[in-house]
Amino acid sequence: MQVSLLPALSDNYIFLLHDSEQNIAAVVDPAEAQPVLRRLEALGAQLVTIFNTHHHMDHVGGNQQLIQRFPGVQVYGGAQDRGRIPGQQVFLQEGDKVEFAGRVGEVFFVPGHTKGHIAYYFPPTTYGQTGELFCGDTLFAGGCGRLFEGTPTQMLNSLTKLRALPDHTRVWCAHEYTQKNLQFALTVDGENRDLQTRYAEVQDVRRRKQATVPSFLGVEKRTNPFLRWEEPALQAAVKSQEPIQTFSRLRGMKDQF
Ligand code: ZN
Ligand code: FE
Repeated sequence: MQVSLLPALSDNYIFLLHDSEQNIAAVVDPAEAQPVLRRLEALGAQLVTIFNTHHHMDHVGGNQQLIQRFPGVQVYGGAQDRGRIPGQQVFLQEGDKVEFAGRVGEVFFVPGHTKGHIAYYFPPTTYGQTGELFCGDTLFAGGCGRLFEGTPTQMLNSLTKLRALPDHTRVWCAHEYTQKNLQFALTVDGENRDLQTRYAEVQDVRRRKQATVPSFLGVEKRTNPFLRWEEPALQAAVKSQEPIQTFSRLRGMKDQF
């Protein structure tokens, strides 16, 4: 399973999963159809699956056109998003399994950004292989999604599930927000050397107009304030030691940033 990233709209990423043996593909969160169709044509590959993480237009906007071009495509999404994801046929819940290119993906229910949000995690199958996490707008590189439909408690629980995955997991998040996220992170965790180093690297990558996605989950655990509500520095920054309050205050500060 090769994963590649297709920039879309102003700051979205669509992920294309390619099985080169069967020459079939799956796509995660097609914001729009054109970049996907172009890449599929270049590969000569057949689209068999759309994996949606949640119902927002910048994640499902390409569904209809892709279904038209590939009428057999299976459209996956969260059970709670029934009626909100165009063409949805499969309604997934926590613990469900999905399959692509001989890899089995686990479904996590991760409400908070929206009430139906799910994430897909493909664990490594051989030694040294990376795990692949498609987390939509729940976990971002250096940040997390805004709470549009969920509560801080839900989001904290959702991020706790993702944080439990191995460090050697690639985090494929759906937006290029990293630089701004890390700028905020430095305001609440400024003494963190790993964060300082990461910010310098990200500035460099963005200067070259390259993508900062994917990141590794290990790096997120060390530098992303929204996975670090137990750290004394962050608790001091928001003047609370209570996890939900710490998280909620951090999220509130980021909303104003
Ligand atoms: Zn969204
Ligand atoms: Fe989005």
